[in-house]
Amino acid sequence: MSSSESESSQQGRHQEVGHKSLLQSDALYQYMLETTVYPREPECMKELREITANHPWNIMTTSADEGQFLNMLLKLINAKNTMEIGVYTGYSLLATALALPDDGKILAMDINRENYELGLPVIEKAGVAHKIDFREGPALPVLDLLLEDVRIECIFQPLLLVSADKCCRRGWSQEKKQGSFDFVFVDADKDNYLNYHKRLLELVKVGGVIAYDNTLWNGSVVAPPDAPLRKYVRYYRDFVLHLNRALAADPRIEICQLPVGDGVTLCRRIK
Ligand code: SAM
Ligand code: CA
Repeated sequence: MSSSESESSQQGRHQEVGHKSLLQSDALYQYMLETTVYPREPECMKELREITANHPWNIMTTSADEGQFLNMLLKLINAKNTMEIGVYTGYSLLATALALPDDGKILAMDINRENYELGLPVIEKAGVAHKIDFREGPALPVLDLLLEDVRIECIFQPLLLVSADKCCRRGWSQEKKQGSFDFVFVDADKDNYLNYHKRLLELVKVGGVIAYDNTLWNGSVVAPPDAPLRKYVRYYRDFVLHLNRALAADPRIEICQLPVGDGVTLCRRIK
């Protein structure tokens, strides 16, 4: 193969959905995995990665380098109370669970329990299952309920019926869910990310971090309008573009977009 053929076949592969790196070459990505990631990957994560590799939807899993990144990030920010939206077989969930202290918590949501249960024996064997509160079903109503808890709490205050916002200002709901999460990993239905964002900004504490995954959407964010994209890539692309613009314009957060995995945007709540 000539060097230009090899280059164009590499570019072709980089356009494939599920390619786990946005680095300039596959060889560079492989180097990173083999030098820095795999040698330090905990045995349980390796086992879960291998189980997931045999699953028909393995394209959805978090890559090993991103798992290592999340694990490091959670330790750096001393996260204890976290949330994950989009679990699949649990690779990012396990990376999170291993990073948290023994009394750490993860509220984990997915519409599909079956896939979670595929990874669960590995998570149990790793001794971290007690940190996980898994809820099967769409995440949005769960977020609404968490916020509603605060409102219900307010209703039972003897003085008045007031909004959750006022409750917070009066200090009534400090121990409730509002502002209680240190970290949230969002890795599910891209068309709902902005709906999640609206709620998560109330649920995460000031100084806490929300990480939105797949924000470079397989590179499709810069694809020309007539580019031959897979149907679902094309469908979600506009939502991802909209999300990226909205996050960049949101004064309540500081942001940083990293080319890890398929692109991950970290949002630190500042207001
Ligand atoms: N973080 C996972 C990992 O490390 O393997 C990958 C998650 S996968 C990309 C996306 C997941 O989101 C799927 O398991 C899917 O069932 C779930 N999902 C899709 N829509 C959802 C929704 N409305 N609420 C919760 N989960 C949803
Ligand atoms: Ca993802």
